[in-house]
Amino acid sequence: MNRFVACLTCSLVLLCPVLLQAEEQPNAETALQRLKEGNARFAADQPAAKHRDAKRRAEVAKGQRPFAVILACADSRVAPELIFDQGLGDMLVVRVAGNVSNPEIIGSIEFGATSLKAPLIVVLGHSQCGAVAAAVDGKPLPSNLAKVIERIHIGKDLPKEKEAALDAAIKANVLHHAKELTKQSKVLEEFVAGQRVRIVVGVYSLRTGEVDWLEMPKAKEQKR
Ligand SMILES: [Zn+2]
Repeated sequence: MNRFVACLTCSLVLLCPVLLQAEEQPNAETALQRLKEGNARFAADQPAAKHRDAKRRAEVAKGQRPFAVILACADSRVAPELIFDQGLGDMLVVRVAGNVSNPEIIGSIEFGATSLKAPLIVVLGHSQCGAVAAAVDGKPLPSNLAKVIERIHIGKDLPKEKEAALDAAIKANVLHHAKELTKQSKVLEEFVAGQRVRIVVGVYSLRTGEVDWLEMPKAKEQKR
């Protein structure tokens, strides 16, 4: 890519984050494979821990080209760069309690997909999620925290047993917000339909360190 060609997205030319780094993006399948391999290294306690040194810092100071966008919970035990064994500039990460979506969050994801051309979006839930547990409990919460919990979607007909109910609610919530991305964003809907972007869903286990990848509904739009 010629970095001196004006960028159609932002017209900043020399300062444009899209043009500053010439490296090509992988396709969605390769991007997902990178995450799966990174998670396997992390779960096996053998991280490569690449892209965390001064050389990488200098490289990405010129511009960013993350190959994946991650929407994850704010939980301190679910740090995406660690659990996928990635480093600086590899992933654009948006974090909020309960990995919920709203216009600001979807806007940040759109930035990753459109301006930075990341081919893969991951919506990542996790086991023992306190935010989802609060939504399942349904007890009143103070001030702004209540607004976050209101956005959590626990689904219907939860199992009676407490742990099974939480696991089912976590899955329902992560699938719901993955669907919201294309429902609430015209550009993401077009990108998925045109196979420029793929959205995948996973649930990270705090105990094993492994991500369980879930099937997304509407598989025909997710062929890439
Ligand atoms: Zn959580």
